[in-house]
Amino acid sequence: MIGVGAAKVQEKDVPVLVVGGGPVGLALAGDLGWRGISCVLIEQTDGSIYQPRMDLVGVRTMEFCRRWGLVPAVEASPYPRDYAQDNIYLTSLTGYELGRERFPGIGQAPPPKESPQRRERCPQNMFDPILRAFAASQKTVTMRYRTRLISFTQTADLVTATIENAETGAREDIAARYIVGCDGARSLVRETLGIAMRGTPVLTYTTNVIFRCPHLLSLHDKGKAYRHIFIGPEGTWSTIVAINGRDQWRFSIIGGSDQREYTTDEIEAAIRRAVGCNFEFEILSVVPWVRRELVADRYRGGRGFIAGDAAHVMSPTGGFGMNTGIQDAVDLSWKLAAVIEGWGGDGLLDSYSVERQPIGTRNVAEASGNLRRMLSIPPHPDLLDDTPQGEAIRAKVGREFSETMSREWFTLGAHLGYRYEGSPICWPDGSEAPPDDQRNYVPTARPGHRAPHAFLADGRSTLDLFGRGFMLLGFNARANEAAPLLNAAQQRNVPISFAAIAEPDIAALYQRKFVLVRPDGHVAWRADGIPEDALRIIDVARGAAKI
Ligand SMILES: Cc1cc2nc3c(=O)[nH]c(=O)nc-3n(C[C@H](O)[C@H](O)[C@H](O)COP(=O)(O)OP(=O)(O)OC[C@H]3O[C@@H](n4cnc5c(N)ncnc54)[C@H](O)[C@@H]3O)c2cc1C
Repeated sequence: MIGVGAAKVQEKDVPVLVVGGGPVGLALAGDLGWRGISCVLIEQTDGSIYQPRMDLVGVRTMEFCRRWGLVPAVEASPYPRDYAQDNIYLTSLTGYELGRERFPGIGQAPPPKESPQRRERCPQNMFDPILRAFAASQKTVTMRYRTRLISFTQTADLVTATIENAETGAREDIAARYIVGCDGARSLVRETLGIAMRGTPVLTYTTNVIFRCPHLLSLHDKGKAYRHIFIGPEGTWSTIVAINGRDQWRFSIIGGSDQREYTTDEIEAAIRRAVGCNFEFEILSVVPWVRRELVADRYRGGRGFIAGDAAHVMSPTGGFGMNTGIQDAVDLSWKLAAVIEGWGGDGLLDSYSVERQPIGTRNVAEASGNLRRMLSIPPHPDLLDDTPQGEAIRAKVGREFSETMSREWFTLGAHLGYRYEGSPICWPDGSEAPPDDQRNYVPTARPGHRAPHAFLADGRSTLDLFGRGFMLLGFNARANEAAPLLNAAQQRNVPISFAAIAEPDIAALYQRKFVLVRPDGHVAWRADGIPEDALRIIDVARGAAKI
């Protein structure tokens, strides 16, 4: 390891320099370490979370946590697992309830049948430390907090980065084979690589306020809920989220496309308006931020890559931001590992951008759609009137809004149904893709899709078979039938295992006799027999040959 303050240290042994220790950088460093790849992660802060942003850990991210052994830690995090997760639409906490989508506490909801895991509520100040401990526990990962990337250059075979100790100001150079910018929306790595962002730079100027009020639930009759969306005569104007399920609440003034700053008095008045009475509370933090809809043109520039918010910035409506970023990290990690270990071909790293950029575009669009739906209510001057007409308007608004908003609450398809259509390393088998529907996920082992979950006779999930290397699944197949593909992989030093599966329902789900699953859990190829030229299958999957 290199010491901060050394004049100009060349560390030749850094295969990957990860810039940024938010959830995506931590997941990437952790996954690289889990694969035995050395990396250095630098983070300019000390890692403390001033104001938690994400709190929904999606079902796919939980499947990765399962692979990494982190499910017990997430389940043991302090968010109360019996805290009802309802979303309520209302005029104020003490006012009219217009509609409600009911959800039980996280611990009371069974996982969907399509996954061994359920989505979790684990806000960033609880989730980041879990990822941080995971990354730090890997022998090959070096974490350097209070260390900032100042600049970097690259040649055909090396990246040289200048980094600075945020406490002493001491600078040093660090040499790495690859640099990955997980450095957030204002990514210096992206800027240095000259990668443009496309989309809408400003959707809203929003102000988030965390306030403490242990007795908030006793002030109203709406009961426990996760998200409260406040609708006034002017339309939707604010939200309150149960950020720790106990005494802290995140209040958001949604705002519009005009920049607006609020005084403390205005913020306090707005919180009292949302609650509907005068009450005591303590403001813990105020963060004005800009809601954007942006996706990077490409995720790679030579030896540099971007992932997470550095590559896509979206409205939090839907809870896709971090979850999309962690998928980026998992897609990139095994490809970097393959190239560093010497079995990945020239095209493998290029496939990262080809596969992940369209998913960024897809999820950014869905998030903006959710925002539009949330703001879709026109003004209703009579909304609060205690008259039959006011009641009729409230009933209409509640009915229509409940129907509109349900799209945001049921998103299994968005989290599990993403697929790498047209990927140069997935071999199309001519079968038709199921619709990419954000709500309904259709499990399929079609190449490019997430290999589906099913429980094996011994109680494990099929997903538990995937991760370290490639996995060839054989349905009612003998090992000697699979041998040509396994031998081809060995010839190219590609790590591979074989699993014979006898369960007829899983064979029906996977639809072919042989299915080759990549280290990230996506299907690379499937067929009813191993072709004579098995080497080509392996060469395409490792990015060394074109289909
Ligand atoms: C209100 C809100 C709610 C949200 N809720 C959800 C949710 O429920 N689920 C979800 O999936 N997403 C959610 N998101 C989005 C989610 O928070 C982000 O997508 C996620 O934090 C992005 O992670 P990241 O690691 O890519 O970037 P960041 O979290 O921004 O981390 C980047 C890190 O890089 C560091 N850094 C930057 N520049 C440098 C440098 N030059 N040198 C060293 N370090 C540097 C920064 O200090 C920072 O720690 C929400 C966002 C908001 C605003």
